[in-house]
Amino acid sequence: MSTDPKHTEPPLPGTAVERRPAPVVRCRRCHRPLHAPESRWEKLGRHCADAPEQTRVYVIDQDELPGI
Ligand SMILES: [Zn+2]
Repeated sequence: MSTDPKHTEPPLPGTAVERRPAPVVRCRRCHRPLHAPESRWEKLGRHCADAPEQTRVYVIDQDELPGI
């Protein structure tokens, strides 16, 4: 009765996760920015995950991904 789930202890100093802008995750195939969490996790958009494997894809200019 005395435990209120709305009153949880605050995180200890120094353990709080820093707030920073979410890095842009791009599809490893078409390099489009991904927004869906599962797509970002896979680094592969659904549009490419569902698409059949492309044949002969030449990647010449590949941008460096910052922050990884
Ligand atoms: Zn894609």
